[in-house]
Amino acid sequence: MRLLVASKNRGKISEIKKIYKDSIEVLSPIDIAIELDILEDGNSLRDNSLKKALAYFRKVDICTIGEDTGLFVEALDGKPGIYSARYGGKGDESNRKKLLLELKGISNRRAYFKTVIALVIREDFFRFFEGKVNGYITEEEIGNNGFGYDPIFVPEGYSKTFGQMSAGEKNNISHRNIALRKVLSYIEDKKDKIESLCK
Ligand code: IMP
Repeated sequence: MRLLVASKNRGKISEIKKIYKDSIEVLSPIDIAIELDILEDGNSLRDNSLKKALAYFRKVDICTIGEDTGLFVEALDGKPGIYSARYGGKGDESNRKKLLLELKGISNRRAYFKTVIALVIREDFFRFFEGKVNGYITEEEIGNNGFGYDPIFVPEGYSKTFGQMSAGEKNNISHRNIALRKVLSYIEDKKDKIESLCK
């Protein structure tokens, strides 16, 4: 079975391909030579994940997952949240710098990553799946692995950032993996129906 991932983010695509390597053929927009510019202007992770998935689905008619993730910081009333991608205005590094600056001198560093995945089987047949990981924000960047906010986020129960972990270590425990595993078990539950719709 094939699934298109409605994302241009190489970090995400590579994580999803690794996590699904034994079960699903994962296609990226690059693999099918289609690139869409989708404005993530929804009011929630759900809105944005569905918007991304439907935009690609309408174009190629392949079962599609759209994924949206946010980092929610307790001391900042949940910011950057759904605005995580544009927080610093100039990509991943500026996002991390702005967050560290905003948290300067604040001792409550609690935060969580939340991922919502919209699985679109048909225009009127879609489902949402969620994954969440609690943790805290470091005082400075540590580690060069991963992407986005990984070098400043330590998951609960660990003493290193996602940016210090190997891809396998992060994938075992990540918000994205939790949501992706829920998608997989939904697909396996409804195997006959979904496999006949998603060839
Ligand atoms: P989006 O889901 O692509 O809109 O991502 C929102 C923001 O969160 C972007 O700045 C990403 O780089 C960041 N992000 C998404 N997933 C992760 C992750 O697993 N680790 C660190 N940052 C992430």
